[in-house]
Parts: sequence; C-alpha cells; structure tokens
Amino acid sequence: METVVSGIRSTGNLHLGNYFGAMGNFLKMQHEYNCFFFIADYHSLTTHPTPENLKSSVRQVLAEYLACGIDPDVSTIYVQSDLPETAELYLLLNMNAYVGELERCTSFKEKIRKQPDNINAGLLTYPTLMAADILLHKAVKVPVGKDQEQHLEMSRTFANRFNRLYNTQTFPEPYAFNFGQSLIKVPGLDGSGKMGKSEGEGNAVFLADSPANIRKKVMRAVSDSGPTSPNEEKPEAVKNLFALMELVSTSDTIKYFEDKYNECAIRYGDMKKQLAEDIILFTAPIYEKINAIAADDLLLNKVMNLGEEKARDSASKTIKEVRKTMGFRK
Ligand code: AMP
Repeated sequence: METVVSGIRSTGNLHLGNYFGAMGNFLKMQHEYNCFFFIADYHSLTTHPTPENLKSSVRQVLAEYLACGIDPDVSTIYVQSDLPETAELYLLLNMNAYVGELERCTSFKEKIRKQPDNINAGLLTYPTLMAADILLHKAVKVPVGKDQEQHLEMSRTFANRFNRLYNTQTFPEPYAFNFGQSLIKVPGLDGSGKMGKSEGEGNAVFLADSPANIRKKVMRAVSDSGPTSPNEEKPEAVKNLFALMELVSTSDTIKYFEDKYNECAIRYGDMKKQLAEDIILFTAPIYEKINAIAADDLLLNKVMNLGEEKARDSASKTIKEVRKTMGFRK
C-alpha cells in the first residue's frame, strides 16, 4: 500500500482551497492508501501565534479535519509537534539544503514581499520542514494544491541528495498529486489569484462559515460590468467565479451561466446567488459537524493520542535508519 502524507497549517480555519487542494477526493480513498494527515503547528510558528492561539487552532483544525470525514481508525491523523522526530529530520535535512536554492523558492520570495518585517529562518527553511514531514513516513504521494508543486520538487531534491550522499535508498521520491487531475489552485473571492488564509477578509470561504456568511461573502465577490460582445474572453475575476462553480455546481448550472456569458446576457447577481447556494449545499454536511466535534474534548484528545502513537511507529523507524546511515552512535 502506498503511503500518502497531507498537512495543513494550524494558522486558521480550513477553506475550500485546503479542501480541494489537499483533501478532496482523497478522503474517499483512505482504505486504498496508508494515509497520514497532520496538523502543521511547527509550520504555523513563522507567524508567531500566542500559546493560547496555537493550542486552540490545532484543536479547531483537528475538528474540521474530522468533520470532513477523516476516519482516525483508518487513517493516521496527528499533530506535527507531537513527533519531535519531525524536528530532528528537519535539522538533518537542513545540513544539505543550500541557502541559494531555498532563497529561489517562489513562496519565500512572496513572503519577503508580503511581510518584510518578519523574514525569519523558519520561512526560508519551510521547504525542508515540509520535506521532513513527507520523508519521515517515506510517502510517495502528497495531495497538495498547485502552490506546493515547487516544494514537492525540493522534497525530491533533498531525498535524492541524501540517498546519493550516503549511498542508500532510504527515501523514495514523493510526488504531488490530486487524483488523476492536474494540481489545482482554488481562486479567492476578491479577484486575486488564490484562496488563502492570510489573503484578507472576504477572500476565502471557510468550511466553518455559516450559510448566511457564505451568502454575504459570495455576493460581495469581485466580478465586473459584464461582456459587451459575444464569446468574449473572461476577465480574471469572472474566470474565478466560474472556477469555483466547477468545484461545487452541476454541469447544467455551469453550462447555463457559460451560455449566458457568451450571449452577453449574464447577470452576475444571479450567478453569485447560485454559486453561494451550491457552496452551501457542498459545505453543509461538514459545517453541521464542526461545532459538536470541536466541543468534544474527550474525542479530540483520544484522536490526537491515537494519531501520535500510530505516527510515531513509522517516524521512529525512519529516524533510526537515518541516524544509523549517517554514522551516529545511537
Ligand atoms: P496551507 O493552508 O497554506 O497550510 O495549505 C495547506 C494545503 O492546502 C496545501 O497542500 C496547499 O497546497 C493547499 N491549498 C491552500 N490553498 C489552496 C488553494 N487556494 N487552492 C488549492 N490548494 C490550496
């Protein structure tokens, strides 16, 4: 059985981008792969959360993961920092990760642009921590969105470099995947490219958003004044609305609005109303479970403890092998 690892930072609630990029269809396949889902709380430290924030957001993300349908008895779901083996592998991989290649990373360059006051070493070495998460379980498939493609390439580089350096076959090559389709980028509602946690109010639809909130956000989504000639190329913001429809609406609905657009008869108000209802229909079964799970401390603690135990099994095996290969005494 192939091993799959998927992680989500504990910096905020899960949104549709996380769902379709990192989980999606994959949730239905838990029996066909050896699945690890983890909550990336080490990764969240680059934004300096308070201890209270860290603690509560880990529990919230866990509750949302479970509400999405991860079965803790089938898959392994754990908190990243519960496995200090992650931090050890991160340290070891960092010794063979070059500053030049880390600095060339698109996501790092973006962070420099967006948060010039907080360019910490954790941001620079984000790809090595991610590689540690993946290689720790010798995963070969990693469900991620398009934004993580380059990081996966770096994980392969680090895996191959380790194998070459020590003349071993310790790590397999991990690949980004999204079930036969190409990797996806779920757009935000603000006309910008990507749905994200840190992209500002109104950009993301969260799985924990109430129906009323979803309606409000979607109705405020950026569109434009409408096409003026038949079959016109769509502006970016309108393409985004259609891309969101592709994820949650039926093909008939999409065709209806495509035709309206091409005939210059589209009313974005109608389209957004439909989109909001389709998103609500999609998220309702998840949304309805989140609060009850989040309030169930007993369940959350049980799941975290079980996950830690299962994840440690494979992590400690890998770390032992790595230490031996590198020449450590123990
Ligand atoms: P993050 O929220 O940045 O921790 O990302 C966790 C996972 O969700 C990663 O696999 C990302 O690739 C994926 N993801 C986040 N935002 C999007 C998006 N807008 N579209 C597709 N995948 C996304």
